[in-house]
Amino acid sequence: MSKLKNIGDCALCKNKNVELMQSHIIPKAVYRRTKAYENSRFREFYEPKVIYQDGEKKPMLCHECEEFFSKYETKFSNLFLDKYLKNPSDELPEVSDDTEFYILTVAWRILYDDLYIYDSFVNDIERKNFEEFEQKLWWYIFERYAKENGRESLCEKLEISGKCFGELIAEVEEQQSKKSLKNMSQISSYIYTLGQLGFVEDVTKLFDSMVFGYSFYDASHTKYYIISGYKGLIISTVYHKKRSLLITDSLRLLRKVQNSKGNVKEDIINEVNYIIKNMRQKYSEVQKKLNENGLRDKIKKRYEDKI
Ligand SMILES: [Zn+2]
Repeated sequence: MSKLKNIGDCALCKNKNVELMQSHIIPKAVYRRTKAYENSRFREFYEPKVIYQDGEKKPMLCHECEEFFSKYETKFSNLFLDKYLKNPSDELPEVSDDTEFYILTVAWRILYDDLYIYDSFVNDIERKNFEEFEQKLWWYIFERYAKENGRESLCEKLEISGKCFGELIAEVEEQQSKKSLKNMSQISSYIYTLGQLGFVEDVTKLFDSMVFGYSFYDASHTKYYIISGYKGLIISTVYHKKRSLLITDSLRLLRKVQNSKGNVKEDIINEVNYIIKNMRQKYSEVQKKLNENGLRDKIKKRYEDKI
């Protein structure tokens, strides 16, 4: 029986009714390097019954866009990840322009998945800021995609002829809002090892077989984070949103806002601590699930001759 094709709109080039590939949110190259054995499979940490053969995939991109991303994944693997894995230390390889672009493509996929597939932040007032963040990343990535694939850029020129005043104003406004969406000055990416963040060797070991990615915002509601982690690396892309008005009676919070950029590292450390705390809290629950229907034995059996 042939597999059913997924037909839909591509999230990057926006082509309609095209065949969508099963895209990895976090690239396959990363999952491949996280596997302990050739036949390793990935499981959801809190739901160990849920298996992903080679990482989590979603129908999201058309073939051409998938290829575009895969080119940067290969560059990242060659220029950064493999160099780091050869000699894992807190001295990271140089972050090239291509590595930085790769980080943005993964950040965009994580955020898009969070917003439009998981429907996260639905009743949250901050959702609109995440949507803005997603749009900014999308524009930036799309422009490079258009340039490299000989596609027309969506940044068309102002069309004046034959338009009435009202139409012109509307067009100028639209161009203005596009221009502000395209402003990337408030977005920056960070890459740390767990060691650089002050975590001990045991934490690195704990995270060694895990791959994760999601989005969150800080307590001051001025920084919007997309975070991912694998192989002892914590990668984050941050949208520093300038707020003209912030009402707070917390001095600590106010100080945090004033020194917003400097606190990125602190926010990331707090988030990793939060993940560890969550894992600890749910540990016995997960163990119980592993004991159900002989799941633990099945997993053990799968790998026993590999040790
Ligand atoms: Zn596409």
